[in-house]
Amino acid sequence: MSIKINKIGVMTSGGDSPGMNAAIRAVVRTCAFHQINCVGIYRGYQGLIEGDFKQMNARSVNNIINKGGTILKSARSKEFRTKEGRITAYAKAKEEGLDALVVIGGDGSFTGAMVFSQQFDFPVMGIPGTIDNDIYGTSSTLGYDTALNTVVEAIDKIRDTASSHNRLFFVEVMGRDVGHIALNAGVGAGAEEILIPEEDLGKERLIESLKRSRLSGKSSSIVVVAEGDKTGENVFELKDYVEENLPEYEVRVSVLGHMQRGGSPSCWDRVLASRMGVKAVESLLEGKTNFMVGIKDTKMVLCPIEKAVKGETDINLELLRVSDIMTT
Ligand code: ATP
Repeated sequence: MSIKINKIGVMTSGGDSPGMNAAIRAVVRTCAFHQINCVGIYRGYQGLIEGDFKQMNARSVNNIINKGGTILKSARSKEFRTKEGRITAYAKAKEEGLDALVVIGGDGSFTGAMVFSQQFDFPVMGIPGTIDNDIYGTSSTLGYDTALNTVVEAIDKIRDTASSHNRLFFVEVMGRDVGHIALNAGVGAGAEEILIPEEDLGKERLIESLKRSRLSGKSSSIVVVAEGDKTGENVFELKDYVEENLPEYEVRVSVLGHMQRGGSPSCWDRVLASRMGVKAVESLLEGKTNFMVGIKDTKMVLCPIEKAVKGETDINLELLRVSDIMTT
């Protein structure tokens, strides 16, 4: 069904990521450019259920392109997972006169959008906002590049201490079940080993590699560990294992945690957010619905939201090889 779109609601949902504000700005200004109304929905789906709306215009989004987090706030809504919750949300959307939704979030938020769209034949468009880069249909999600820069900067600083004290550091980075952050930031920061869920390096190989590293004259080392690494070990258990097997090493653990999700977005994320916002609104105006905006080979693309939710991202095998070569 294709309806004329006069009013678009925009929300951020799930975990926040740098670049969400830049995307909100882009959605609002593209609506202004095409002379249609735009409404900001606070606290994701929970705000939709409660009718927590604010009329937005081009000036509502001044000076936010450089800000981390999200001015619309984000939330996880249990109520929206229920049919009744979504009925209330739909009633509020209709009351406000919304014709379509732009949802900036991760795969959970897209599942919510899909279910809502199926239940009420309501146009939706997704913009992938998550630092993990774990969404099928785009080579880069909003916030991923910023998080990589944050992690590399943190590891550079940790290396100063590691080399001054001849220490081995395990640095745990975010990424849930995928190793994109660990692999890319690990190569970028010159880590000696990178442990990711997609490749089971095995604890024994890690010990062998660290021994080789020591024999080759390295007195300090950085091992980057993705939080969902397949060795199945908590990073502190890994530390204990290495200390037991390599008593000559003084081992420290640094869990970078939520600092990876904050901060001012990188130039790449700001530009990506701007392009995605324009593409999202203009695609809705062209009558497209149930898609997620992505980037592939530097071009903006649309991926059916169902595929974005179900598909898995691949780890870059070439980068894995580069990492292996760099750690010889
Ligand atoms: P992150 O990547 O940070 O986890 P996300 O978008 O995946 O972000 P979720 O908490 O999984 O975050 O989902 C955000 C919200 O989307 C949920 O709180 C819920 O309101 C809605 N949602 C998720 N899954 C469903 C579903 N199956 N049906 C209806 N709504 C859903």
